[in-house]
Amino acid sequence: MTDAPDGNRAPGTGPAPGAATRVLVLNCGSSSVKYQLLDMADDSRLAAGLVERIGEDASRLVHTPAGGRRRERTVAVPDHESALKALSAELAADGHGLDSPRLAAVGHRVVHGGLRFTEPTVVDDGVLAEIERLVPVAPLHNPANITGIRTARALNPRLPQIAVFDTAFHTTMPEHAARYAIDVATADAHRVRRYGFHGTSHAYVSRRTAELLGKRPQEVNVIVLHLGNGASASAVRGGRCVDTSMGLTPLEGLVMGTRSGDVDPAVVFHLVRVAGLSVDEVDTLLNQRSGLAGLCGDNDMREILRRVDEGDERAQLAFDVYVHRLKKYIGAYSAVLGTVDAVAFTAGVGENSAPVRAAAVDGLAGLGLAVDPGLNAERSDAPRLISPPDAPVTVAVVPTDEELEIAAQAYALVAHADG
Ligand code: ADP
Repeated sequence: MTDAPDGNRAPGTGPAPGAATRVLVLNCGSSSVKYQLLDMADDSRLAAGLVERIGEDASRLVHTPAGGRRRERTVAVPDHESALKALSAELAADGHGLDSPRLAAVGHRVVHGGLRFTEPTVVDDGVLAEIERLVPVAPLHNPANITGIRTARALNPRLPQIAVFDTAFHTTMPEHAARYAIDVATADAHRVRRYGFHGTSHAYVSRRTAELLGKRPQEVNVIVLHLGNGASASAVRGGRCVDTSMGLTPLEGLVMGTRSGDVDPAVVFHLVRVAGLSVDEVDTLLNQRSGLAGLCGDNDMREILRRVDEGDERAQLAFDVYVHRLKKYIGAYSAVLGTVDAVAFTAGVGENSAPVRAAAVDGLAGLGLAVDPGLNAERSDAPRLISPPDAPVTVAVVPTDEELEIAAQAYALVAHADG
């Protein structure tokens, strides 16, 4: 784990002008590729973009150079290889091609690193084979990540490809938090355990929260609530994750946009035996037709809050179930940590939704938690405190930046190898 985005630079010295300090960050999903080009000399963002609807008739490419105009095109992108070629052509048009000597590495978000990958890793054939071995525990994500790595490598074989794993930050979880209470032999034979996800975000946000408190990560205990379309909570003691709400897959834990989060596992047997659903249908139900969407038909918190304002009962129920689950995790992680210095809200909902933040800590004064309504209502992109100044536990809004964290980790690895 890096200590800071510029953690490997000697104080007072920067990289030489023109040095290879740039990192292209790729986040390959099954039908989309998100990318950002960052310069680690000053943590600046040179370009950001997205290729979506890969494999469909009309794919869309959106490319925004820093300080330039957003370019949007409909292109034929039958596969990830074409997507990477299309995005590298956009970058090249701005003078940032994949063959640029300023490019130090490509950083890949890889969802599942199992127990093996606890750190960012330079990809070679052995690493690729291991990521492939993890496909059974991440069937929706790892195949696209692998394709992204293979394609980027083929486009410039000399460029280091660095895998940064969503699970890595959680590999410090103690065994009693990572184990499910099921037969050990069966669990081990099939690698069934709690891995956790969104680790790059939890790492970044917990570290930034410590900075906001004027402390080192080792000195504070933080509960991070990453509330995006996917959502997860983590308990971070002294900079190390000790528990997190996602498990074997990103389905466990909090209520999400379309995912159920925690349910009694017997719900699955019941739906198969009594409702006659196939296992795949239950999988789709719990991953795509549950959560906020399953409860009220909308997965966007903005729309749900608008409906709540209009007195819509289903939207109110969805909001209440969502908040109730959040509170349970705040309580659980307060107990896990014993002492909590800060609770940090992050990602789309956590950063933008004052009503969710207020409701999540409402009634938790007994745990030392409260928000100041005025501070909570303020809109800003900066990390900020929203608890009253005299509150025993700090409540903060800390915008996440997974791409910057991936770039920082990838760059730290290659810069270190060079030095
Ligand atoms: P992901 O990266 O998981 O797709 P994000 O972190 O971008 O998700 O979060 C997306 C979600 O953030 C949206 O689905 C929406 O519910 C929520 N969101 C964004 N802006 C607001 C807002 N102003 N108020 C409430 N929710 C918001």
